Amino acid sequence: NAGLGSWPERRLRISPGRDAIWFEGTTTSHAQFALRVRRAAAALAGLGVAAGDRVAWTGGNHPSALETLYACGQLGAIWVPVNARLAVPEAEYVLAHSGASVVVHGREHGPLADALRHVVATWIAAEPPADGGADSLPYEDLLAAADPEQRDEPVALDDPCLIMYTSGTTGRPKGAVLTHGNMTWNAVNQFMGMDFTPSERTLALAPLFHIGGLNGTVNPALLRGGCAVIVRRFDPAETLAVIEEQRVTSFFAVPTMLDAMSREPGFRTRDLSALRTIGAAGAPLPLPTLRTWLDRGVTMQQSYGMTEAAPGCTVLDSADAERKVGSAGKPVFFTDVRVVRPDGSAADVDEIGEIVVQGPNVMAGYWNEPERTAEVLSDGWYRTGDAGSLDDEGYLYIRDRYKDMIISGGENIYPAEVESALLELPEVVEVAVIGVPDPRWGEVGLAVVVPAPGTAPDPEALRTELRARLAAFKVPKYVEFVDDLPKTATGKVRKPDLRSQYAHTEE
Ligand code: AMP
Ligand code: MG
Repeated sequence: NAGLGSWPERRLRISPGRDAIWFEGTTTSHAQFALRVRRAAAALAGLGVAAGDRVAWTGGNHPSALETLYACGQLGAIWVPVNARLAVPEAEYVLAHSGASVVVHGREHGPLADALRHVVATWIAAEPPADGGADSLPYEDLLAAADPEQRDEPVALDDPCLIMYTSGTTGRPKGAVLTHGNMTWNAVNQFMGMDFTPSERTLALAPLFHIGGLNGTVNPALLRGGCAVIVRRFDPAETLAVIEEQRVTSFFAVPTMLDAMSREPGFRTRDLSALRTIGAAGAPLPLPTLRTWLDRGVTMQQSYGMTEAAPGCTVLDSADAERKVGSAGKPVFFTDVRVVRPDGSAADVDEIGEIVVQGPNVMAGYWNEPERTAEVLSDGWYRTGDAGSLDDEGYLYIRDRYKDMIISGGENIYPAEVESALLELPEVVEVAVIGVPDPRWGEVGLAVVVPAPGTAPDPEALRTELRARLAAFKVPKYVEFVDDLPKTATGKVRKPDLRSQYAHTEE
């Protein structure tokens, strides 16, 4: 087994006594972690999971995420993390499309298990569910009953390791297939770019079902022999306490989290002296937030990446934090980044074009979607849909987005998805969803709605109906009603016009 599933075995051999996982007061060594992964693999195999099968996982951050990921790696099975915030119809799509045969779920997801048992037969509760989910199998009991034998399945670096679903500008979410090689090379890229040592104690703070939470620092630190300090969910004050108590050395976060933490009293009073560096990505990092953390003596490494690249593409070296403020840095070691014009030729220095990336961390493609894969991948280069420029020293600056996407608190929202959900409502004839600036979330959604003739819909009622169909973070914060939408000669909504018109919407 050359894949990710072999990492715990190699750590068992090299550094069995070092800490691997800390979660809510319990520390697990690399040796103990390896044995738990073996048991999880045996338990899944006992439920019929074999090489190539898909095993879904959803929930708040919890050791079972990493254990089942690595267990799948030992079996050659494919791990499918599902965003814990999805509405039932959205989760149903992901489970059905991936063809998952087992779902491991967190304690809040008993009702999801009950709602979707007709889609997937076997549900495992990582912890006793808060409500519902009475038919789910107890994870700890399965592990306790399983045999901790070492296995050696023939898993190659090009085999799929996980499928992570990500929305797009058209249609349903797509499943980015990340191979064992993608996971390996991303981990190496990341720990080189962030100077990780085996003493790393990294915080698993962002959701493990998102690529930044999983692969920003957590898997790289485990590969390096360090420890993942798992935080169940983001609470700014508690997070600062854990950083102090657990002597956390690094973590990955989206800008919204860093901003919220910097406003806590604990930001000044907590001992953050062990904290060496933070990788910030997922959305533009406002300069005031960056400076606040730099002033606190913590190195901020702004980076840039995406699910399809597992995710790291560039990172700003800590030595350049001040000199190149605002830049996302240079390509990580094994990865190449270019900025191109619409005809594919290289843009000049400082000229804005589309960012394209290539390297051993770039996904194999989208699960069972050859056409959508061909739209973004050619000759090994992935078209990001992001606008950027390179300066005379090769530093990347993210300038804008070509793709129609809103980033709200680190969660991506694709207006196309929200618009089609709104159009299903009888009161809505036409709609355009745009992002408007928001001091807390970076951006929030605003729906500009043309109501059906003779109707006067209530914005709150529309939002409530949407919540049954879409994850809450996708539901537009604002709804505005208009008689008609500004359009181009070809009938396309002029979103830039709407964006400038509504840019100053305040509560
Ligand atoms: P995801 O696949 O959910 O990780 O989202 C990836 C997208 O987030 C990228 O294509 C960018 O549009 C955006 N993004 C990631 N990092 C940055 C960054 N440092 N600055 C601005 N946007 C970013
Ligand atoms: Mg995405």
